[in-house]
Amino acid sequence: MKQKRRDPEDVLEEELLGEVHFEIAEDAFRGPYTCHKRKTKRIRKMMQYKGLQYPYEVWQCPICKKEFLDFYQSPKLELFWMLQKLLDENVITLERNINYDGKTFFIRFPKDITKKWKKHGKAAIKILTPTKLLIEVKE
Ligand SMILES: [Zn+2]
Repeated sequence: MKQKRRDPEDVLEEELLGEVHFEIAEDAFRGPYTCHKRKTKRIRKMMQYKGLQYPYEVWQCPICKKEFLDFYQSPKLELFWMLQKLLDENVITLERNINYDGKTFFIRFPKDITKKWKKHGKAAIKILTPTKLLIEVKE
């Protein structure tokens, strides 16, 4: 079966919904992988969503067209799906009081969220604006 060469603008609806099925390769840190006894090829793809163009890469089997993501590629797609949720305002939002002890500000997190956090872990705070922040808890 010959695959039609895709225009980068031509995005499948399933890609927009984030329902593309990728194989997240666990056996190897970094591609290429082997599928159908062939080495997968690194291909560049483009997603478009609400006027945003988002380039990404996958490893693709030349025979079955199955796509694989490696350790470096999957965070980039996760970021896109995060942006998509933000654009759709489809994000769970928690209203919290900010407490102040005279020196430091504190925000309490619900137990359901923190139960797997390390007691003395690390977090990265990404500052979008002085009042809009993204917090990433490091594992
Ligand atoms: Zn294959």
